[in-house]
Amino acid sequence: MQIHQSANTTNGDIRATWVEVNFTRLSQNLQAIRTHVAPAKVMIVVKANAYGHGLAEVAKHLSSQADYIGVAVLEEGIFLRELGVTIPILVLGGIWGDQVPQYLQHNLTLTASSVERLEQIDTIAGQMGLKAKVHLKIDTGMERIGVHYYSAHTIQETAQMCVNVEVEGIFSHFANADSGDLTHARLQLERFNEVLRFYENHSLPMPMRHMANSAAILQIPESHFDMVRPGIMLYGVYPSPESARTVQVLPVLAWKTRVVYFKVVKPGHPVSYGSSWQSDHPVRIVTLPVGYGDGYFRSLSNKTKVIIHEKKYPQVGNVCMDQMMVNIETDSAFNGDDVTLLGESGREAITAQDLADWAGTIPYEILTNINTRVPRVYITEDEE
Ligand SMILES: *Cc1c(COP(=O)(O)O)cnc(C)c1O
Repeated sequence: MQIHQSANTTNGDIRATWVEVNFTRLSQNLQAIRTHVAPAKVMIVVKANAYGHGLAEVAKHLSSQADYIGVAVLEEGIFLRELGVTIPILVLGGIWGDQVPQYLQHNLTLTASSVERLEQIDTIAGQMGLKAKVHLKIDTGMERIGVHYYSAHTIQETAQMCVNVEVEGIFSHFANADSGDLTHARLQLERFNEVLRFYENHSLPMPMRHMANSAAILQIPESHFDMVRPGIMLYGVYPSPESARTVQVLPVLAWKTRVVYFKVVKPGHPVSYGSSWQSDHPVRIVTLPVGYGDGYFRSLSNKTKVIIHEKKYPQVGNVCMDQMMVNIETDSAFNGDDVTLLGESGREAITAQDLADWAGTIPYEILTNINTRVPRVYITEDEE
């Protein structure tokens, strides 16, 4: 296997801390999802800087292999259009203020999450002489944005009267599809199906239906409908430890750094701000040039591990903004040695789920929290 590095971003020579994004795995994950959900289409969810993987690069790499792109906010959609992405883009979040004209100018698909919004979209599209592509958002149990399932007919009826709107899709979102107990998720699915009966009852064409996030792709095949919306599993991370692993995906992102300092610390000499850790015997301590200013949570202090020379070592003392310390006891490590913060190294691995467990959060937050200060390096694997 050969590794090729692409030169479209700064690499690890500039900073001793970097993120590696594996394009080969990204494509393989998408392919595995496609196979699992066929004939349903796939909307790749690339919000929040593509879950920390780099929005521009991920979108450019995957847009020819995807049917639709999902982003959270208008700015992300405009960014992709200005980058030259031409496939359909749905902005999943709500429309804020007077943004409707910008959606239309950039040929972005709008989420209509209330009757008033839908009417506003219709009016503005009419003024601009355009037809707006809209997906209706139905709230089946998340209590976030969207029209409640029990009053969905109001937006469905309004849509029939809007002449400048094409209702291309209708969607909902699960609150608990990643749980071991799918009772609430199944209730949501039932409610969504009930809402969809409107079209049959009125002999109207069915819009494109979509509901499944990663967890539902894995656990609720009946929710795949016409399109699925994978986010986290596209990046090779399972949404929760409980959720079934019916599709095999591999982590796309690795976070690495290097040893930049070595010292022996005597007993009774605490390490770092707050002196939260000290040893009762002499230990070898190395410093790594990464900290919470890069998105490595301070709450990981004294809980997390790193891999050096294919062996795990405990981080000690409080994580600083730009640096942190690791106890290698009596082992040796030299300045410049590679350190894995997240990813695989030989037989050892630290997963996003591990870091999430240690930090008391979910893998989503671990990934999206990695700062833009950390350069991303894009690699592809060549099978030989
Ligand atoms: C973020 C998001 C997704 C993707 O969720 P994952 O759990 O990452 O697969 C799908 N749909 C909507 C509406 C979202 O906001």
